Amino acid sequence: MKNPIGWLDAHASELSRFASDLVRIPTVTPWFGGDAALMREGEAQKFLADKLTALGGEVDLWEPDPSALAKYAGKPGYYADHVFTGRPNLAATFAGTGGGKSLLLLGHIDVVPAATGWTREPFTGETTSGYLWGRGCVDMKGGITAMIFALEAVLASGLKPKGKIIVGSVVDEEAGGMGTLAFVDRGHLADAGLMTEPTGLKIANHCHGILWGKLRIAGRGGHIELPRAHWRAGGAVDAIDKARLYLDFFERWNADWKYWRHHPHAPKPCEIHAAQIACGSYPTSYADGAVVTFNTQYRPSERDANNSGGAIKKWLEEEFRRIAETDPWLREHPPTVEWMIDADCAETPPAHPFVAAMSRALEAIGVAAEIEGSTSHTDIGWFVNSGVSMLNFGPGETRLAHQADERLLLADLLTAAKAIASLIVDWCEAE
Ligand SMILES: [Zn+2]
Repeated sequence: MKNPIGWLDAHASELSRFASDLVRIPTVTPWFGGDAALMREGEAQKFLADKLTALGGEVDLWEPDPSALAKYAGKPGYYADHVFTGRPNLAATFAGTGGGKSLLLLGHIDVVPAATGWTREPFTGETTSGYLWGRGCVDMKGGITAMIFALEAVLASGLKPKGKIIVGSVVDEEAGGMGTLAFVDRGHLADAGLMTEPTGLKIANHCHGILWGKLRIAGRGGHIELPRAHWRAGGAVDAIDKARLYLDFFERWNADWKYWRHHPHAPKPCEIHAAQIACGSYPTSYADGAVVTFNTQYRPSERDANNSGGAIKKWLEEEFRRIAETDPWLREHPPTVEWMIDADCAETPPAHPFVAAMSRALEAIGVAAEIEGSTSHTDIGWFVNSGVSMLNFGPGETRLAHQADERLLLADLLTAAKAIASLIVDWCEAE
């Protein structure tokens, strides 16, 4: 029976169980802190390695070495202080029969902490009402399950891909992408690839770059209930009032940016938003300082020579300075910016043959192919920059990632596996 789609229909319950088993191994990125018992990336990678070995893959399981990656300092995904003990990356290579185009199927095994607000248990892998529930089922253990079963379906159906297939799973994605950097550095590359992040079964050919920053605004404490002297005479300065000036500009920039900082395939323009605000020390005192932690995005066309957000950082620093010029206190006490994360971006042109192959794969199983970029970050950048035409495509609604009651429609998991199986047959010329 050379019908991977029929094989998947016949094995739908195994697919659901495998995804559920993966959710039951909590793999919270250590970078977020919290309960060490939930940080089991290594165990989950071993679980995947066993499965891929059984399928005939040649497995490479290795702990990234930050010192060996120091040559990437200043580039996306490099963080000198990340530690990988017990946190291996995984790559399983399936040699083709020769002559075909190669394919990389990649996911990240780590998840963000469960946080609060759940009505279900986040790590029991419960399946009810057609959904799998739990932290990581959408982002992105569903995608990992879909790509592994897609390959199994092709192989179990007796089809032999001409092109090489690499199935990979990286650690540390949620903490900035150093697992991916180590994966690329290890040389696990192909002609094209799928990052099976949740895209709601859309073809996400681009992702935005993300910058996190802390804007520190100076104030001067002083009794709120008493008459206030001018600040030059030692009077208090309300840092909340000064922070408001910046927050107003965030709104103005968003209103302006929507007309020109819009990627043609993104459902939303680049924006800037305050995510956290910390101000003041006492209810009786004017705020002596304000820290506005913000999130902003950038497009592939706005990258600097390092393929990073350096040019956008400089531009925003200049804008922050201009705002300070409009206020006498801020002119003499300009805010400072501390940049926290720069997660890179990339795109694969919609006219690329791999986009056409992915579209054909979807149409072959009766799903309309829709191209829509991702306005958050995914780890496709290093691959695209290394010559791998990479797309994001996977099951699950993106908006449910990182949410309480994260849930994956099991029907979408099956559809994603069928689409990827169909892609393998097409792109790698399986016969
Ligand atoms: Zn993800």
